[in-house]
Amino acid sequence: AEPRFVVIGGGPGGATTAKYLKRYAPNAAVTVIEPHKTYTTCFMSNEVIGGDRALSTLEVSLDGLRRHGVDVVESMATGIDADAKTVTTEGGDTFAFDRCILSPGVDFRYDAIEGYSAAAAEVMPHAWKAGPQTTLLRRQLEAMEDGGTVILSVPANPFRCPPGPYERISLIAHYLKQHKPKSKILVLDAKDTFSKMPLFTQTWEMFYGYGTDTSLIEWIPKADGGTVTGVNPDSMEVTAVTGTFKGDVVNIIPPQQAGAIAVAAGVVEDGWVPVNKSTFESLVVDGIHVLGDASAAASMPKSASSANAQGKAVAAGVLALARGEDPPVPHLANTCYSIGGPDHGFSVAAVYAYDDFENALKPVQGAGGISPIDADAEYRRREAFYAHSWFENIKADIWS
Ligand code: FAD
Repeated sequence: AEPRFVVIGGGPGGATTAKYLKRYAPNAAVTVIEPHKTYTTCFMSNEVIGGDRALSTLEVSLDGLRRHGVDVVESMATGIDADAKTVTTEGGDTFAFDRCILSPGVDFRYDAIEGYSAAAAEVMPHAWKAGPQTTLLRRQLEAMEDGGTVILSVPANPFRCPPGPYERISLIAHYLKQHKPKSKILVLDAKDTFSKMPLFTQTWEMFYGYGTDTSLIEWIPKADGGTVTGVNPDSMEVTAVTGTFKGDVVNIIPPQQAGAIAVAAGVVEDGWVPVNKSTFESLVVDGIHVLGDASAAASMPKSASSANAQGKAVAAGVLALARGEDPPVPHLANTCYSIGGPDHGFSVAAVYAYDDFENALKPVQGAGGISPIDADAEYRRREAFYAHSWFENIKADIWS
């Protein structure tokens, strides 16, 4: 009999795995469990927040997976029994598997910031899962008076999409520059350096006055007390190590951990899931594979691009293992575009090779790279075009 696979999560990691399982083994039984009928991408959601894109362009249907023969179950997985090899859903149904694949994404560590909670996020949105939170932050920016202060807090590593906060800062600054030029963004950061930092700071200097008295952006790093410790949604105050600040709009990007179902499966250590970085099988529980943001897959970043690449490797790996064959050893790639303003993009890319001795994913020297710091406007325009092209292509590769 062909093997049975249950995939939890219909995001980039889960949907890619499911689709490619059916492509590699059309007779395999593949079930995806996902509570949302429509998935909303976080990628490009910063353009919605900046006002240059409609939220509807982020929405993808899971029907594309059904066309590949994947059984999509609209529910929440609540438990995994690794010995009985079954997944249980909210409705009380059970699904048997030979191998189970988890790509549940992240959950927020609300307890890490005093006063922050799911309820507080309705006042001080995270907008780090796209959908209503994206719309909420956008509406708050639209409603803010000119001269207002936007506070944005960034957690320490690791977290979903390392360059994402800085792209968001850029696109909020772009909005303020056009519509509310007397306003300001105060960034409270739990780090001293960040992804593509020279490219972002150069962009901020070019377009948003960064480093001058009239800068739209003020960035307070960890070294200057930027780490946020508490919030008060009633008074709209944010407390960092250096002091307390009042915002008109407050975007808290909280510290994160692997999605709750991974905790329920007993595969989480220190917040994330340690895995064999070739097959993404849990190092703790056999037969459960975890990819995407929930996995501890350094040195790959937590990105949709990573999750997509990992999904193809996982599909090939679990099929081989279920058939009693040796899993292939993958090379994995990640490309991450950032938009700094209209017609202004840049990127970082890397290829990762698996080192089985160290169970490490190591960047291949000479493969990949980062956009040059001295590129001209035409180069940046093209990279913004490539970013939008990447967005359409990866959506098609994952869900169509
Ligand atoms: P997710 O996308 O979170 O998908 C997980 C799915 O699992 C969800 O649909 C959820 O509903 C479901 N789920 C969770 N628990 C259960 C359960 N118990 N039962 C059933 N289903 C469950 N990445 C890039 O590559 N490029 C970018 O430009 C980029 N920009 C970004 C910008 C922002 C602002 C943000 C926040 C992120 C960005 N990312 C980008 C990162 C990208 O969104 C994530 O890395 C990616 O979504 C991870 O995919 P995933 O499958 O691991 O998790």
